Amino acid sequence: MNTLDTPISYLKGVGPRRGELLNKELGIYTFDGLLQHYPYRYVDKTMFHRIGELNENSGEVQLKGVLRRLSSVGEGRKRRLLGVFRDETGAIDLVWFTGVHWLEKALEVGKEYVIFGRVNAFKGQLNIPHPEMEPAREEGAQAETTFAPVYPSTDKLNTQGLDAKARRRLMKALFEKLEPADIPENLPAYLVRKFHFPSRFDALRLIHFPKDEKELQAARNRLKFEELFFLQLRLLQIRRRRKDAIRGFVFETIGEYFNRFYKEKLPFELTEAQKRVLREIRRDLGAGIQMNRLLQGDVGSGKTVVGLMCMLMALDNGYQACMMAPTEILAQQHYNSISQYVEGLDIRVAFLSGTVKGKKRKEILEALKEGDIHILIGTHALIEDSVQFKNLGLAITDEQHRFGVEQRAKLWKKSLPNPPHVLVMTATPIPRTLAMTLYGDLDVSVIDELPPGRKEIQTVHRTENHRLRVIGFMREEIAKGRQVYVVYPLIEESEKLDLLNLQEGYEAIRREFPPPGYQISIVHGKMKAADKDFEMQRFVEGKTHIMVATTVIEVGVNVPNASVMVIENTERFGLSQLHQLRGRVGRGAEQSYCILMSGFKLSTEGRQRIQTMVRTNNGFEIAEADLKLRGPGNIEGTQQSGILDFRIADLSKDGRILQTARELAMRILDDDPRLERPEHHPLKWFLEKHGKKLKGWSRIS
Ligand code: ADP
Ligand code: MG
Repeated sequence: MNTLDTPISYLKGVGPRRGELLNKELGIYTFDGLLQHYPYRYVDKTMFHRIGELNENSGEVQLKGVLRRLSSVGEGRKRRLLGVFRDETGAIDLVWFTGVHWLEKALEVGKEYVIFGRVNAFKGQLNIPHPEMEPAREEGAQAETTFAPVYPSTDKLNTQGLDAKARRRLMKALFEKLEPADIPENLPAYLVRKFHFPSRFDALRLIHFPKDEKELQAARNRLKFEELFFLQLRLLQIRRRRKDAIRGFVFETIGEYFNRFYKEKLPFELTEAQKRVLREIRRDLGAGIQMNRLLQGDVGSGKTVVGLMCMLMALDNGYQACMMAPTEILAQQHYNSISQYVEGLDIRVAFLSGTVKGKKRKEILEALKEGDIHILIGTHALIEDSVQFKNLGLAITDEQHRFGVEQRAKLWKKSLPNPPHVLVMTATPIPRTLAMTLYGDLDVSVIDELPPGRKEIQTVHRTENHRLRVIGFMREEIAKGRQVYVVYPLIEESEKLDLLNLQEGYEAIRREFPPPGYQISIVHGKMKAADKDFEMQRFVEGKTHIMVATTVIEVGVNVPNASVMVIENTERFGLSQLHQLRGRVGRGAEQSYCILMSGFKLSTEGRQRIQTMVRTNNGFEIAEADLKLRGPGNIEGTQQSGILDFRIADLSKDGRILQTARELAMRILDDDPRLERPEHHPLKWFLEKHGKKLKGWSRIS
């Protein structure tokens, strides 16, 4: 048995009780588990501070002195321990809120200690909450003068003898047991040489006990690379296997439908980006593999028509196609525009959603099964079991991030034994680093160009005292024949309150824009679908001037004549949502505006979000900013996946390492798909041991 697989309780200083604590609190079961639990930061313990020189900005300090007093105050949960610590330059208060009982017994008044903690100011008085205390002359005191690791911990661990310094002692004990042979190399020697990496053993040793910044960097670089590289290797392997295993329908010809549409119907010239993406898709569809492609394109970049043209390729080859959208409104809009596009081409397009019932529904389902319907457009009603195609060749999902993984996976089963080609479209720009990870096994196409003639949307930030001017501006735009959106946030926890907001907002707007001169639509999630559609339709047809809505209009709605987007309580929206909302205007030839209303008081993050929106219209830039502000775990659609739970890599910072890792992984697999060459044996061994975690991920779409 490898030493690393030894149960953690056998480590010197652990034993059964602490072993169980490590299991429960941190999920550490073996030596390896402890080893893989990296410090989350390091403290410079190479120097001592003097109490007389401390101030509230001193941050983390190490002090040497004598504990002068110790007393506990308060009762029960309010109980805390107060101490006074003194060196030759002055004294400072120490305070503990947990572990009081234990500390009271462990600490000794009059004894000399080396302490470490963060200086805090409370009512003008300096103190140090929860300092680490180490008797100055005891064993382990050398540790005070190094770069010391700090591990993620819990109150329980801290109070039950596994505090920061105990954890350090355990790591030391572990490394006394380990030899280089226990931690074999997992990268090919040529890569280790190429990047001047430390060996794997050294990297792990140095991540826990670096002598200085330089050693720490070297260890970090290697471990980050390793983590990203093996994930990419695994994802790319899955993709290759899928391509080998699943035969795709071959769409050989570009036929009558496609050509006639292109020549007779397409009302504009495609952008270069649209053409490029169509070529990429065409190549997939003709190659005998099953396409599994993500199409990314900023709002308004023209994804719908690309989707339609792909469906026409399917039709030209005798297959059916479908397009699924996340909301009734959007699905309806796709249905309308696509029906119009293909008018006169002898193509039967049908619409299906939960609202299509009874005889109508039965008719559609039968025609679909017979193959009389060529294109089916709808909501998630499409994935119900009762919906059966004769031969579905292409399934498109619009705004894919709105669907769950399982919902999307169901489309795969609509044409067994072979799944249809799959195209998922999204306007939520995902930073490249995330896309490479989340969709590492998907092919990605990007429309990175807007149709010509669009004017950049002008975005401004306004507060309540500008209200009258904003209303005046709306009036001017409406007088020019334009339409206006006013959007309110709707967050589930406070749904009732938000609806009230919306209702009050609606009434305020009505007072400013009274009928019959002005007409207003109102749409929110609690309305019946039919009412929603009615209101929406009036706005689409230009019968109403203002659309007051919650974020139900966020996705995909297209009204080119709308030129003003007013967003209320902007601080309550996330960046990607704001960007989506703004994308509802600027769809026609007119200059468009986005007005971000907010309160005066804003959190730092709220202010940064608004500033980002004002600064740029570029969805990818916004996505990058979002990633930096919120971290990868919070980007829409990534939460459940767990794939982003890295030990050490950080996608918001390690884009370059990821890029290198991905390119290398690709090159290696192109060269040696089964990793059979001797120099790749370490890779193969390591993947077999640790790669299983990623199983099943291939069917994200
Ligand atoms: P999105 O990518 O956000 O789904 P849409 O497909 O709704 O964008 O397209 C937005 C608008 O741009 C539509 O009105 C569409 O007709 C128009 N459009 C798409 N491609 C072009 C193009 N190449 N030239 C001009 N207009 C285009
Ligand atoms: Mg769209």
